[in-house]
Amino acid sequence: MNLFNVYPLYDITPVKALGSTLWDKNGVEYLDLYGGHAVISIGHSHPHYVQKLTEQLSNIGFYSNSVNIPIQQELATKLGELSGYDDYELFLCNSGAEANENALKLASFFNGRKKVIAFTKAFHGRTAGAVAATDNKSIVAPINYDEHVSFLPFNDVEALKANVTEEICAVIVEGIQGVGGINVASDEFLKAAREICDKTGAILILDSVQCGYGRSGKFFSHDFSGIKPDLMTTAKGMGNGFPIGGVLISPKFKAKHGMLGTTFGGNHLACAAAVAVLDVMKSENLMENATEKGNYLIQNIKKMSGIKEVRGRGLMIGIEFEQPVDKIRDSLLFDHKIFCGYSGKNTLRLLPSLAIDQTICDRFLEALTSVNGSR
Ligand code: PLP
Repeated sequence: MNLFNVYPLYDITPVKALGSTLWDKNGVEYLDLYGGHAVISIGHSHPHYVQKLTEQLSNIGFYSNSVNIPIQQELATKLGELSGYDDYELFLCNSGAEANENALKLASFFNGRKKVIAFTKAFHGRTAGAVAATDNKSIVAPINYDEHVSFLPFNDVEALKANVTEEICAVIVEGIQGVGGINVASDEFLKAAREICDKTGAILILDSVQCGYGRSGKFFSHDFSGIKPDLMTTAKGMGNGFPIGGVLISPKFKAKHGMLGTTFGGNHLACAAAVAVLDVMKSENLMENATEKGNYLIQNIKKMSGIKEVRGRGLMIGIEFEQPVDKIRDSLLFDHKIFCGYSGKNTLRLLPSLAIDQTICDRFLEALTSVNGSR
């Protein structure tokens, strides 16, 4: 059987990785400044991470969500402490899209409404029909996604005021749009969203799947604005490569047995991975490092010629060029052995490990200067 061919692949086969370095099967060394779309938060093969996962391997034989799994509570406690949301509750699942579906369901269960407001260039995942096609009234929320979602211009306070009414179930927004081009939600916009949701009874969901987990320099990128969402979704960097997602749920929601559920959500290995990530983020001060290295990169990239705009916060950086970025990205990869991503046609996207050091930043800046200068 062949793999279903949905991903355009580079002819590179990584076989080993450590920190921000990858080696392919021919022994060629690469710098990873993309981390599989923001997944590698603490660096590849971190010793504490490897140890935690290895220790947990003996426990996977008796996994079930219908018995106590103490490491789930350890994860929730540590997440509450590091994020500052210790009065929220945690629902564990397996991916970002699943976290968002559960958040939308919770919103709809809460206020019984159906209409959702999302924003231009938003990306929230690739599942939609699973719940709609499920014939079980106790788990199907009133919402039916595709029919009921309207898109407003991102960062437009007036559009919020005009469209978030008492009919609206939820407003779902990224604190920093990822796939849509690394667009930072303004503090004014997020504060207005909070205020209008409070006034109308709509639920405010912050999709923090890509921009969360310390990447912006704060635990959640919306923390810069001082708002507290009703629901936050997370995945990607949460497990440093092990699939895990979660919904952080404000105290106004009351859990009911059977309300949400998933077979694999909260399994031992995923929790061990996520606990290790939080341990390392705390002990190595990775949020401070993201701020420091992110500022250094952004300031230096801004000095380069031929760049239209640099957007982002911490280690979520978009570098917009006047022209399509594919040749720049390829030159960084093939000539300089540096993995980067892109977002839209003209924007180079950096989502490195939160543990990158000064040498890595300088190596990238030198390579970008060289590629940019030779165009
Ligand atoms: N939300 C955001 C902001 C994302 O960037 C992504 C994935 O890129 C998702 C949700 C979906 O996450 P997953 O691919 O884990 O389902």
